[in-house]
Amino acid sequence: MNDLSKTILLVEDDPVTNKMIHTFLTSLGYEVVAAGNGVEALSVLTSITPSLILSDIMMPQMDGYELRKRLLAREEFRLIPFIFLSAKGERDDVVRGYELIVDDYIVKPYDPKILSAKLHTLISKYENLTQLIRYDALTGLYNRRALHLFFKHELNRVRRYKQKLSVLMLDIDHFKRINDTYGHHFGDEVLKRIADCLLSQMREVDIIARYGGEEIIVLMPETNKTTAVRVADRLRKQISNLTFELEEVCVWVSGGIACAPDDGLEESVLVEAADRAMYRAKEGGRNQIRI
Ligand code: GH3
Ligand code: MG
Ligand code: MG
Ligand code: MG
Repeated sequence: MNDLSKTILLVEDDPVTNKMIHTFLTSLGYEVVAAGNGVEALSVLTSITPSLILSDIMMPQMDGYELRKRLLAREEFRLIPFIFLSAKGERDDVVRGYELIVDDYIVKPYDPKILSAKLHTLISKYENLTQLIRYDALTGLYNRRALHLFFKHELNRVRRYKQKLSVLMLDIDHFKRINDTYGHHFGDEVLKRIADCLLSQMREVDIIARYGGEEIIVLMPETNKTTAVRVADRLRKQISNLTFELEEVCVWVSGGIACAPDDGLEESVLVEAADRAMYRAKEGGRNQIRI
């Protein structure tokens, strides 16, 4: 998953203004996705996660105020930098804008240099923030909170496009023993090496997250169970072949797979199914994948 492309969602009903700002943003190096009102903007947001939203206020169907209200109500959209760019320049207008927790309120006509500087600042800050809140510090994998957002997004795609989504739960075998024998620091090293191995092996579209202590979940979009088993088994073998400075160490993982929509269409149901399968892998002797 390309985690943060520098895409700006431009929401503006006037075609001439829309075109002009579009051209300006493109000249600054941003990808631009344009919407003509709030409804269109919400529709764009189901498939694209922009780095910033630049929105007009007065628009047909759904104005900027209503759009902003709806975004504030959604956890996955709330933090995306949001700027009102409006002709409404009275003090009360600006105050009303800020009441909707926006990052900036710019009155048209805008100064291109200042707008460019503001965009750069807000996008940089947002990138730093998303790094902090989405990633697990030890492994560099996504954390559980990020996984939750991706799950939502991917399950929507399963519903809409009738695709398969495979969910793999991996758990390190006898990890407590590894910690107890070689120390917690070495245990951390093992976690990092496994994470690196997964990151190097999986596709760009796959989502790899640290679910708990030594449990990792991999979401594989557009992947059926048969393929998921093949991929998971390849990963399992590669992990068992990892070599460490302490030469005698050999690390195994057990894995369980569930697949949407066949096993369910809810995150909790799928995770539970994958978890149950993973436990069967443990019972079956570990170092194996079950469905
Ligand atoms: P099983 O094969 O049944 O999964 O056994 P296990 O020992 O792996 O499972 P158990 O749940 O008993 O222990 C998990 C261990 O993972 C215990 C905990 O200390 C360790 N662990 C969890 N998070 C971390 C971490 O961030 N670093 C290190 N080094 N260890 C961790
Ligand atoms: Mg307008
Ligand atoms: Mg465990
Ligand atoms: Mg374990």
